[in-house]
Amino acid sequence: MSKKERQLSFLNETLRTARNSDLYRSKLNGYPLKLKNIAELQNFPLTAKKELRDHYPFGVLAVPIKEVIEMHTSSGTTGKATLSYLSYFTREDLEAGSKAIAEAWQCFGITDESRVQFMMSYGLFSGTMLNTYAIQEIGGFVVPAGIQSAEKQIQMMLDFKVDTIVGTPGYYYYLFDYIIEKNIPLEKLSLKRGIAAGEIYSDRVRTEIEQKFKIRIFDHYGLCEVNTGIAYECEFRTGLHVLDEYVLPEIINSENGQILPPGNEGELVLTTLKKRASPVIRYRTGDITTLRLEKCPCGRNSVRIDRLKRRTDDLIFIKGIKIDPYELKEFILEIANNGIYSDIKIRVRSDFINYKPEILVSLKDSSNNSLLVFIQKRLKDKTLLTFDVTNVNRDYFQRGENNKVKFVEYVDKK
Ligand SMILES: [Zn+2]
Repeated sequence: MSKKERQLSFLNETLRTARNSDLYRSKLNGYPLKLKNIAELQNFPLTAKKELRDHYPFGVLAVPIKEVIEMHTSSGTTGKATLSYLSYFTREDLEAGSKAIAEAWQCFGITDESRVQFMMSYGLFSGTMLNTYAIQEIGGFVVPAGIQSAEKQIQMMLDFKVDTIVGTPGYYYYLFDYIIEKNIPLEKLSLKRGIAAGEIYSDRVRTEIEQKFKIRIFDHYGLCEVNTGIAYECEFRTGLHVLDEYVLPEIINSENGQILPPGNEGELVLTTLKKRASPVIRYRTGDITTLRLEKCPCGRNSVRIDRLKRRTDDLIFIKGIKIDPYELKEFILEIANNGIYSDIKIRVRSDFINYKPEILVSLKDSSNNSLLVFIQKRLKDKTLLTFDVTNVNRDYFQRGENNKVKFVEYVDKK
């Protein structure tokens, strides 16, 4: 069977199973029961994040609950206690998931000799669980550190001679500052590589982390609602290889939902292929990227997506001016030229007549007020907007789930 035929067969199986769930029973009513080719999928309706939330907790379930052995979720980025997206797994689903994602870890260089430390939360968060199973599938040794103090993270790295660490890009900076502060010689660590994921980050940030830790950093993309492992970088780092026998990617115009041909930037839409318990059909990820069909020098024949640049709902409008917060953060870090710590907050209000948008930074030298003035001036040149640029104590930036700092804060938006 060719890859296309395998994809089609799993897709038809997914469409069949999905109809057992409350979510898709009516949604797929009237749509063909069986597709003759994958392209026909684009006639099917898209699934929005809100629909998953509206079908909490069991409306997404497509198998009898007795077949389910595990659930993953995320508390979302708003920090609310309610669980929003649920992903259920049968035993078969977990096996298929860990086998598929093992491909990514093998590509990162993980073998049965590897020791991998996860510096992201365990428990409900799917990012760590499924990736842990994937590494175990290869025979690698996992140190499930989860959320710990930097001191404990380093101690575990030393004790277990960890060679691979996994964390958000922001956490790498945080950890490195600790290493410098405590004068820990990097040679004492056995690090060979790092996986930075869970946040959008630029090539510049990647290079900086690599130079600090003297290791190679790989990007790994996934999302809770669909699955943790969706795409990964190979040694050539020409975008991320999609595990396309596990999930099917499409790119759409996020305004009108129309499918875009490869090479065009748009919103990533995903359909699960090997998930019986809670399949998702044409799920709108909100992540902006481009699909690449050209062959990668590594020889893998999977389709690729570009590294993520932003999300559809991330753009901020201030006095009619469109701001890409990731771009803004990058710009500030660049012009600050190491004078500030990497955590930044952009504080936005709906009332910009009476308030200026604010940028909160943490100066490495707290007396360096001229840097704040300089950042303000450069921001004005770039965006035509006047920002209040304020210095805050470093502890101000609280790390939430997965050690992430929410860097855009809406003061008065619910
Ligand atoms: Zn490749």
